[in-house]
Amino acid sequence: MKITPIRIFTPYINQNVCNTPLTGNLLIKTYPYDTVSFKKLNKKEHTPFIYDTRELDLHCACCGKLMLKNNTVNEFINKKIYFPANIALKKITYEQNFQIKDQPIPLQKVYNFLKREAAKNTDLNIEELINTPKVQEYIKRTNQEQLIALEEIKNRCKRVSHSSQYIINEIEKLNPDFQQTENAIFQDLKLLSKNYPSETLYNILNKPKIKEFYLQKLQKKQNSKLKKVPPLIQQLSPEFAQKASIALEESFRIFNTESTDIIHKRTRVIEKFEEAFKDIADGSPLDKEITKLIMERLENLPDSKNDVNAFMVKYSRKNPNAIPKILVERIRNTNDHVKPEHRKYDEGANNKKNYLNLCGKCNHNRKTESYLYSVKKNPDMPKNTQRQIDEIIDFINRGILAEYDSWPNDIKEPLGLESEGKIVIDTSKLDVQKAKKERTKRLQEYLESESHRPQSELTDKIYRPYEKKNRMY
Ligand SMILES: [Zn+2]
Repeated sequence: MKITPIRIFTPYINQNVCNTPLTGNLLIKTYPYDTVSFKKLNKKEHTPFIYDTRELDLHCACCGKLMLKNNTVNEFINKKIYFPANIALKKITYEQNFQIKDQPIPLQKVYNFLKREAAKNTDLNIEELINTPKVQEYIKRTNQEQLIALEEIKNRCKRVSHSSQYIINEIEKLNPDFQQTENAIFQDLKLLSKNYPSETLYNILNKPKIKEFYLQKLQKKQNSKLKKVPPLIQQLSPEFAQKASIALEESFRIFNTESTDIIHKRTRVIEKFEEAFKDIADGSPLDKEITKLIMERLENLPDSKNDVNAFMVKYSRKNPNAIPKILVERIRNTNDHVKPEHRKYDEGANNKKNYLNLCGKCNHNRKTESYLYSVKKNPDMPKNTQRQIDEIIDFINRGILAEYDSWPNDIKEPLGLESEGKIVIDTSKLDVQKAKKERTKRLQEYLESESHRPQSELTDKIYRPYEKKNRMY
């Protein structure tokens, strides 16, 4: 069935989604050239308020760096890193030497279908294109072979990558507040991109000369860290000393003589020592103390999170778009679960009463440790957490952030418990009465301004929700 697309004059045109929150709870979804469907409107989609602290400019509660809003990162990945599907589909044929005519018939069919759809939706990347109703409909009636073909084409499209110069410029536009390691990585990449502006970062890192450069520096660091282990081994009782010496010898071999294509070397080295010390529970107190020190030293072996060289070596092997992606992911505003141990089985843990905003890197580094561990690594964490609480309280008091009035006080106790009293926050600046007043004012202004907006402004121009949010303060 083909229905002529209707044009809806509201300020809420968001790609294919239009809604009319002023007249009723209706979300009208229009799919260009295709169908029109009606759904219940989620009341939070278009309002003058923000309901998610990941969409605010906040400093990480752990490291204190300014984080990128969640939506900014999504937008960057989808619109800056990934090529629109219509371009990517062409590029895979010559950049990846992927000759469509030599492929099996199911793949050719899928490719041609996608190409036709991509031509109609030139602003969508491959993932977005696959999510359109037309392609979803196609997937429903497709066979297994075609599904595999679709997956392959999708993955190939996602590997089509921009020039290094373009990527560096786009990252710079985000004004990233990188941590030390990421900043060093970014500066190196910037320098490399100046030498090879039109090549992709991936190709640059895979140039033999450059690959060798980072690899040698990495090996040098790995060796110098390992060389600090023997004096500790000598202090162990003979039984453990012998096992540790074997592990050490193996480690030198892994780092220095194994092929450079083998991955997870650092992890394997740590595992060798874990294996050597597996019966340490029976050892003397001194043995226990020394093995702990050895394991701490090994934890300091360079990895892609703490060392530029390890990062370059690792990411020279990955998907070409993995480099810009991981860099922004590390400074993305994410929800950290304050009580991690309940994550899986306590329903209460997955709500905002249990969320603190941490950058992607700090969130990842913490894993399931308590905040006591985070405070040890980042002694400024209590101060940084208070700063974030103050920032959020300010957003609440100004009427921008809704449904968070009780959050500052809700989070107080869990933060204290998780950090064993190291993180004590002050919420005295919170003014719920003021917040309520500000929100009423805000809603009033919003309703007035939106309903008086002339229709000429409200054409097919794309209004994205994050842009509206940005304009609010
Ligand atoms: Zn952080």
